[in-house]
Amino acid sequence: MAKRRLDLTFPPRQATKPITYHLVKDFDLTPNILRAQIQPGQEGRMLLEVSGPREVIDQAVEFLEGEGVAVHAAASDICLDEQQCVVCGLCTAVCRPGALTLDQDSAELVFDKDKCVYCEACVVACPRRAITLTF
Ligand code: SF4
Ligand code: SF4
Repeated sequence: MAKRRLDLTFPPRQATKPITYHLVKDFDLTPNILRAQIQPGQEGRMLLEVSGPREVIDQAVEFLEGEGVAVHAAASDICLDEQQCVVCGLCTAVCRPGALTLDQDSAELVFDKDKCVYCEACVVACPRRAITLTF
């Protein structure tokens, strides 16, 4: 059994199609939507974790690409280098799930990895390159 994180980009015409339903019904995979930004008529993004046999996941990726969905591997881990961090707070402003926050009392950066959806926004925002993703 394999588990893979996929970063999906949907063209506007596909944004409202029940893609995860097909992954369950047609491929017997277990999808877990970690993040989704989908609006009718607009390009959509979804961070999806799928579990199942490796070859079936490959088939599902082919299916998605055949449907016009751009599929990229998403990060599997994230690391904060506390030696590089100067607690400027820029990353907290872009972290929508609230995985990165500033503790008001201690003025320290708090990283709750369980809330991270590997969107990379903090990696781009950090002027110190203190945050890295592993693929
Ligand atoms: S990658 Fe960074 S910005 Fe995105 S959810 Fe994780 S900690 Fe927050
Ligand atoms: S943006 Fe970088 S330096 Fe600033 S608080 Fe976040 S990790 Fe630290």
